[in-house]
Amino acid sequence: MEHAIETNIAVLGGGPGGYTAAFRAADLGLSVCLIEQGLRLGGVCLHAGCIPSKTLLHAATAFEEARAGAAFGLRFDGLRIDIEPLRAHKTKIIEQLAGGLDNLAKARTITRLTGRGRFTGDQTLVVDSPVGSTRVRFSQAIIATGSHPTSLVTAPRDPRIWDSTVALALPAVPPRLLIVGGGIIGLEMAQVYHALGAGITMVETESQIIPVADRDLVQPLFLQLKNKYRIWTGTRVATMTARPEGIEVALTGGTEAIELFDAVLVAVGRRPNLEGIGLSALGLAPDQQGRLVVDGQLRTARSHIFAIGDVTEGPMLAHKAIHQGKTAAEVIAGLPATFAPVAIPSVAYTNPEVAWVGLTEREAARQGIACVKGKFPWGASGRALTAGAGNGVSKALFAGAGGHLLGAGICGLNAGELIHEAALALSLGATAETIARTVHAHPTLAETFAGAAGVVCGSATDLLPSKPRK
Ligand code: NAD
Repeated sequence: MEHAIETNIAVLGGGPGGYTAAFRAADLGLSVCLIEQGLRLGGVCLHAGCIPSKTLLHAATAFEEARAGAAFGLRFDGLRIDIEPLRAHKTKIIEQLAGGLDNLAKARTITRLTGRGRFTGDQTLVVDSPVGSTRVRFSQAIIATGSHPTSLVTAPRDPRIWDSTVALALPAVPPRLLIVGGGIIGLEMAQVYHALGAGITMVETESQIIPVADRDLVQPLFLQLKNKYRIWTGTRVATMTARPEGIEVALTGGTEAIELFDAVLVAVGRRPNLEGIGLSALGLAPDQQGRLVVDGQLRTARSHIFAIGDVTEGPMLAHKAIHQGKTAAEVIAGLPATFAPVAIPSVAYTNPEVAWVGLTEREAARQGIACVKGKFPWGASGRALTAGAGNGVSKALFAGAGGHLLGAGICGLNAGELIHEAALALSLGATAETIARTVHAHPTLAETFAGAAGVVCGSATDLLPSKPRK
């Protein structure tokens, strides 16, 4: 051992969950050692997830909108995307944000260790790096090691079979790209590669894309995409064979076909990173889903070991990890914190965007929860029509006409921003009446959420009433 460090808190993993936990703990006066195997802080979100994908999606959407502008007289002759400047732009943004994290960690005098950490005992871990090992003795530790893409057992080892990390590096624009999985990653990458000129085929085992969201919410997106890509739902990959001329894929289920693709992106979910971190030295083991069980304070079965983010139950989303990171740090600092959000919003940054928060209709039916639905089609919104977004929809579910909001979904332009009004309304227990009576500026897309609430309390005027007016 070359070095030894003593610290209050060791944080294993420098992604959004880990660095947030470290920063909050340092701000609360604790000594913190932040261990990250990558050279920079930021984790998958910054280096191979949220940030690069949103950079590429922004370019793809701007490109698509410029093209769509031809319908009302906008002409950009010779419009095209050059990959090299786009890649450079993505790298620049990542560098800027990673530099910011470095500065934030340094200013807080957090001890940073670069290397792979593994627990060796109840209050010790070792960080191995090419230049040596460091032993860390801690009082409490936070496991924030994130997740990695799930691979398909049917997939051979071949550089033409990609996961999301490879796809975000933009290695090529395949004329025939198969995307396995119609979840958020599959759909976001489909949009980027379609804008770049790839021919997209998407297969999804379930009967709709984004199966966790309500079908009527996803429908405007599906209708838009099915004119651009082949989307085969209820279909799975039976076999995949690497041939010199491409990857031969046999599909079965809703669509039976054998086709050749230039590349295949596998986007069928992610798995927690809990292997090789010495969990057994702590007396811990993953549950059947491969995650660590935690309580409301984010403590594992060993009360001085906390776990946050993708290694715990719930959606694998950066914002969940960030909030859990803050909570874990506050609990360790002795504050009365718990992680019990009313709801965690989900956003697919597709074009149109799909966002939802709280209860879905499907989940309400599964749990036997009675609810009343208000739906506002964006075709009745002046602002949506001016923005070419008349195919969107806003919907809201309430516990009865006079009851509080249970969940909401928005599909359309900027849905990922608009959904936060619903998230706040949910956490404040707002009723349809309160939302409908909140004055929303006109004309805005935000009015459509108030419109959905107005449908439930019978006060909407931009649609014909479905029940007697007040
Ligand atoms: P996902 O679970 O969201 O979607 C995977 C999809 O693949 C599902 O619809 C599933 O039914 C389908 N599928 C599974 N096996 C299949 C098979 N053999 N053939 C065809 N389809 C199959 O997973 P993801 O899209 O890989 O994303 C991983 C995680 O990262 C998710 O938790 C997601 O929410 C998160 N993520 C979030 C964002 C965002 O917030 N915008 C972006 C990217 C990823």
